[in-house]
Amino acid sequence: MVYDDALRARETARSEGMPFPKAGDLSKRLITEAKDTPARAWLGEVSAVILQQSLRDLDTAYKNFFDGPKGKRPRVGAPRYKSRKGTRQSVRFTANARWSITPGRRLRLPKIGDVRVKWSRTVPSVPSTVTMVKDSAGRYFASFVVETGPEEFLPEVSPELGIDLGLGHFAVLSDGTKVAGPRFLRRAEKRMKKAQRALSRKEKGSRNRDKARVRVARAHARVADARREFHHRLSTKLIRENQAVAVEDLAVRGLARTRLAKSVHDAGWSAFVAMLEYKAARYGRTLVKIGRFEPTSQVCSQCGVQDGPKPLHVRVWTCGACGAVLDRDINAAVNVAKAAGLAVTACRARVRPGRVPAPRSEAGTHPTPQPSTAR
Ligand SMILES: [Zn+2]
Repeated sequence: MVYDDALRARETARSEGMPFPKAGDLSKRLITEAKDTPARAWLGEVSAVILQQSLRDLDTAYKNFFDGPKGKRPRVGAPRYKSRKGTRQSVRFTANARWSITPGRRLRLPKIGDVRVKWSRTVPSVPSTVTMVKDSAGRYFASFVVETGPEEFLPEVSPELGIDLGLGHFAVLSDGTKVAGPRFLRRAEKRMKKAQRALSRKEKGSRNRDKARVRVARAHARVADARREFHHRLSTKLIRENQAVAVEDLAVRGLARTRLAKSVHDAGWSAFVAMLEYKAARYGRTLVKIGRFEPTSQVCSQCGVQDGPKPLHVRVWTCGACGAVLDRDINAAVNVAKAAGLAVTACRARVRPGRVPAPRSEAGTHPTPQPSTAR
């Protein structure tokens, strides 16, 4: 809130050609004085240290933005507003804010007091920062910043893996595994669509519409939770079982419009890759992100011959050069691994002739449950 107010004040000054307000002035105006206005009265209930922190965060965001064109660091966008109407809000407590975890495993926050926490995993060392988030469904989460060292590295293993974004699956692995989105996620998505339909039928401005809106927000939150849970389980499993993992870097411009836009799990993929990335760093594994070097479905993963595009409905084809029978998704996953320089056994992409394909629910992997990351 303070972050957004400060951003608004600075953007107004900028558009009116006024001098850029200094953090000190903003602190006085937005924190000290605003506490007296009814809409911002709740600021008085929050520790001043964390309000100052959000002003510092905004300063950093602006500094990164202005430093970009000078070539000091990669370009970043201008600071953006954090909260839209009714969406999530967050506050960050750094070590300066004198917060702590009590012996009774409660969270002690300045000016708020002791808060009961439902821990999703144990904290491996003393955290330096805690962020409290209130999501759009009105629930509170605490996430901790924890320094970890090489003591978390896992013993080396030999498998290496390529992952491709499957069409009918969440992901397809170069070892031939097709990973379906889990049933609990599909169920949550179905419920969310139902709640959305119900909302659209309610009369504008009515009490029932407000109630329906809350139900949609809750359903949304449940889908987001289910998806995050699934991403955590799968990313942990893949990073544990493989020494190196390769994925396509979908940040490459243009792809979002074609294949991904149609996909249900578009937003989820980048969150999943981000998890692979930090878990690889934590556990001493390698994650390789390859650019869109060439369309992975156009190249035979057996002999490397490029034999042109194939329409989407073509799931299996025979390579004209080497005669290998190839599964579209697995072939792509093997090509991703090869492009990253990983040693994968290419023969897995081959489909044995006459094999009866397993039904989708059986072909998918359901990873074994593991404790999810703290939130
Ligand atoms: Zn071939």
